[in-house]
Amino acid sequence: MADLSHILQKVKERNVAEAEFHQAVDEVLTSLEPVMDRHPEFISAAILERMVEPERVIMFRVPWMDDSGKVHVNKGFRVEFNSAIGPYKGGLRFHPSVKLGTIKFLGFEQVFKNALTTLPMGGGKGGSDFDPKGKSDEEVMRFCQSFMTELQRHIGADTDVPAGDIGVGGREIGFLFGQYKKIKNVFEGVLTGKGLSWGGSLIRPEATGYGAVYFAANMLETRGESLEGKVCLVSGSGNVFQYTAEKLLDLGAKVLTASDSSGYIYDEAGIDREKLAFIMELKNVKRGRIKDYADKYGVTFTPTDSNAEFNPLWNHKADCAFPSATQNEINNTDAANLLANGVYVISEGANMPTVPEGVNQFLDAGILYGPAKAANAGGVAVSGLEMSQNSMRYSWSREEVDAKLADIMKSIHSNCVATAEKYGTPGNLVNGANIAGFLKVADAMMAQGIW
Ligand code: NDP
Repeated sequence: MADLSHILQKVKERNVAEAEFHQAVDEVLTSLEPVMDRHPEFISAAILERMVEPERVIMFRVPWMDDSGKVHVNKGFRVEFNSAIGPYKGGLRFHPSVKLGTIKFLGFEQVFKNALTTLPMGGGKGGSDFDPKGKSDEEVMRFCQSFMTELQRHIGADTDVPAGDIGVGGREIGFLFGQYKKIKNVFEGVLTGKGLSWGGSLIRPEATGYGAVYFAANMLETRGESLEGKVCLVSGSGNVFQYTAEKLLDLGAKVLTASDSSGYIYDEAGIDREKLAFIMELKNVKRGRIKDYADKYGVTFTPTDSNAEFNPLWNHKADCAFPSATQNEINNTDAANLLANGVYVISEGANMPTVPEGVNQFLDAGILYGPAKAANAGGVAVSGLEMSQNSMRYSWSREEVDAKLADIMKSIHSNCVATAEKYGTPGNLVNGANIAGFLKVADAMMAQGIW
């Protein structure tokens, strides 16, 4: 089998101290070894060497003033990774942990994910180490305006179309869009996740969570099962958590947990619609902490520490798990705990939430494991539909967009299943997703010459 370790070695030498980026590249290269044996033309065209190098990396200073008049400076990033099949597309993350390597890992994954959606979107990602937590609306607005004052030079409806991610929701997209429009004097679909009255798509806020649940349902269907009555562990409490939980309730499943970076709540009776509405208000309007849920409903709140040996959230009896917070939130011990507790369906809403050893445990155990690139592609898929609606200056109904999302998730699932089988690893959707996404982008790159 083709040995691609020299490519990873080079990535490590050229991108020092970017462990998350190395991890994302390593996973894809491992999947691609059997592909290279069948496609020597990709080796002579150095397709992989080109794919692991972003087309463009933009880094900039973001100065802004807080409410007391103090000036702060944050880092701004946009990594335009690959435009072989469409304009760069991918979210913006505002979180203090953001570094160049974080944005590169996310941008690299986005290339393959976007290819899987069947829509014409290249891959990119951006963000800042700015922390919106504890900031006033006015401070967030001034930050977003400063961020966009630079970013607007590099993006456009046919060039690069950012969206939300951690710390970037409807409020931030609004401030960013307003500043773009003011500077460029053009009303265009340069961002997705917009408000409904100014070009947004119905179902875009719901899309990542709904999509992850549809993907789980598609996996269960292969065993003649459904989500009805399934007991689920879900992490996070932001956008992806909220709509994962909502769709699970729609389909008759039970949700036991919710978390934020301080800890998690365990609600044995299940998070019902009223409690979910409380979480939405708490997180989207009051911008409070998940501990408030425990205080209101009298359930247990357990503080967590990301450096601890394991996360107790993943150590409860359940059927399904939907990691929906952040990267590497399921470590090797967590993966073992999930399996020991009977979890046999995992659909990843967050990006790269499981460490490589954990992924191997899931694959070895033969459970239904939906990797992020496939399982959370619903968000960017509906972003692609938002771009189409903006180009047509038209909007589809809620039912139309939801039906298109469900179709796209189904086709991603069957593409991953068929590709995994074709390349000799039936049931391994990690290989299925990586190979199917890669082939689409590689074919386009081959057709477009050396660039
Ligand atoms: P939000 O900002 O809405 O919510 C993020 C949630 O995860 C919050 O509860 C947050 O807690 C928690 N969290 C964030 N960072 C950490 C951390 N380092 N440790 C523990 N908890 C953390 O983001 P989203 O819901 O949009 O994103 C969640 C995940 O889904 C991310 O991995 C993102 O890349 C991925 N994703 C999102 C898409 C989208 O459409 N929004 C599309 C595809 C993937 P706290 O409030 O304490 O920070």
